[in-house]
Amino acid sequence: MSSPDLNLKDALTKVVKGEVTADEGARREAARDTSLFERMPELVVYPQDAADVSAAVGAIARAREAGADVALAARAAGTDMTGGPLTTGVVLSFTKHMNRIIQVADGSEQMVGYAITEPGVFYRDFERATLEKGLIIPSYPASRGICAMGGIVANNSGGERTLEYGQTEKYVEELDVVLSDGSQATFKALSPAELAEKKEAPSLEADIYRKMDALLTDNATLIEQHRPKVSKNSAGYALWSIRDPRTQRFNLCKLICGSQGTLALWTKAKLNLVRPKEHRAMLVCFLYDLATLPEIVKRVLACGPESFESYDDHTFKLAVRFIPLMLMQMGFEKALRLGIDFVGEAAMVATGGVPKMILMAEFAEDTIEAADAKALAAKEALKDLHVQTKIEKNEKESEKYWIVRRESFALLRKNLHGLYAAPFIDDFVVPPASYPDFLPKLDALLAEYESHFVYTIAGHIGNGNFHIIPLMDLSKEENRQVILDLAPKVYELVIKEGGTTTGEHNDGIIRTPYLSMLFGEEMVALFEKTKKIFDPLNIFNPGKKVGGTFADIKNYMISDTIQK
Ligand SMILES: Cc1cc2nc3c(=O)[nH]c(=O)nc-3n(C[C@H](O)[C@H](O)[C@H](O)COP(=O)(O)OP(=O)(O)OC[C@H]3O[C@@H](n4cnc5c(N)ncnc54)[C@H](O)[C@@H]3O)c2cc1C
Repeated sequence: MSSPDLNLKDALTKVVKGEVTADEGARREAARDTSLFERMPELVVYPQDAADVSAAVGAIARAREAGADVALAARAAGTDMTGGPLTTGVVLSFTKHMNRIIQVADGSEQMVGYAITEPGVFYRDFERATLEKGLIIPSYPASRGICAMGGIVANNSGGERTLEYGQTEKYVEELDVVLSDGSQATFKALSPAELAEKKEAPSLEADIYRKMDALLTDNATLIEQHRPKVSKNSAGYALWSIRDPRTQRFNLCKLICGSQGTLALWTKAKLNLVRPKEHRAMLVCFLYDLATLPEIVKRVLACGPESFESYDDHTFKLAVRFIPLMLMQMGFEKALRLGIDFVGEAAMVATGGVPKMILMAEFAEDTIEAADAKALAAKEALKDLHVQTKIEKNEKESEKYWIVRRESFALLRKNLHGLYAAPFIDDFVVPPASYPDFLPKLDALLAEYESHFVYTIAGHIGNGNFHIIPLMDLSKEENRQVILDLAPKVYELVIKEGGTTTGEHNDGIIRTPYLSMLFGEEMVALFEKTKKIFDPLNIFNPGKKVGGTFADIKNYMISDTIQK
């Protein structure tokens, strides 16, 4: 960012009620997320409300029009794994002030309740409030303890319950947004008549409706052909989700959700909620041979699990290594219970070795008996496959598996000093039917590079969504080069199987350059047109979703070993 004849800090301070700072500490804090990248912003702004966001965006748009090389990125909790909230320009940081849950209410048309929230609310606070009414947004991510609503919506997050409930996009009903000229709008489902009316005004909002409607109409076949074939996707712009083919209702929320703050900034969201079932039983499968995996997945899915997760032998071994530490960090009482609970698994490993993969299929029902019965039916369905299985009859018993699944990555990240958690093939999705073909090829590919990293594979096995986050020494140039060499090879395998490069973590700096490999040039041209329609001056998070390059990956990649 450079603007010799224009002092942007002064211009922003004049129009924004919240703080505008060039303080080194604040900038440093905003310079990283949980990705591989670092970008030091010039300024950090803490807006107090939508009017502040609007004023800040307006000031930046004016500076840009006057020739300044300035852009901005929104930031909620900064847990993004892709570099999404990083910029060298201005960061608009939401957690300090825009952290109000405005309403949690029972009852809406399709769902049992809804919440109205600002983007800076941490998910843990949001969940506490919704649970008071027995409700949740079921697309919460595994980072539920540290992330905020801003990123959950902007990344189209998903998580362990996405198998049954879908991703965040499904729950976003209405978004108040600030557009790239600083004007405000509310995006929600519009009937064809309402859409026609919206197109009339002389505003950026109306222009967006006019041009997006035309873009969808003119390219309907192309867009439909590229609708993702797998059950989760955060790659690209979700052009296929805007117009409901059944009702013809036109909803730009579905596009903003997952767009990583590149098209508009959201300041208030109405999110639908569900009432989760009360009781859970888990079928755990210990796989020593992956040959039966696809058949197991097929049969278990037919029994209707709420979630179906997995972790591999690397995770298991590393978790065992850090279990004492993990237990210590959890507090004595919980640790004692979990420590005792792991004895059975330790004995199993002592006699049979470490399983290649552990599968956790959880069945949710309104009574404990019904949940148990479902888990038992799934166990029965696998009988002739001779898989070692175990039923955990309630959530207390299954907790230890969830802890390894949810916490092992964070633990490794904290405890393997000198190695950096490097998300670059962290979130691809393949159709579960492709496992016999895909997994051995993936294994062989990773083995080729094993001297460069330690890795674990965990994931949402029911969706075919895998999380591989190698731990590497990024101070070595040869290791940084591996990131650029290995990713396209993995994505080639993924794309060949009809998969996607990211199910829930999104594109950011790390995956935007692969969008043409995934979607082809014609679709990427539509993404570029979409970006231009919403943000003609390219002030919202440039280089993410559109215009990102391999040089960006190389240039912004950190080269130290300090995990922040
Ligand atoms: C250990 C770990 C596990 C994870 N597991 C998951 C998982 O299971 N599923 C998953 O989906 N993700 C996961 N993530 C990634 C990340 O935590 C989530 O995507 C999360 O929802 C991001 O939320 P955040 O508030 O931290 O967003 P941030 O990192 O602050 O921002 C994310 C993106 O949203 C944009 N943004 C933020 N606020 C706004 C706004 N108001 N308007 C427009 N754009 C905005 C930012 O510019 C950025 O591009 C994980 C991360 C970690 C570290």
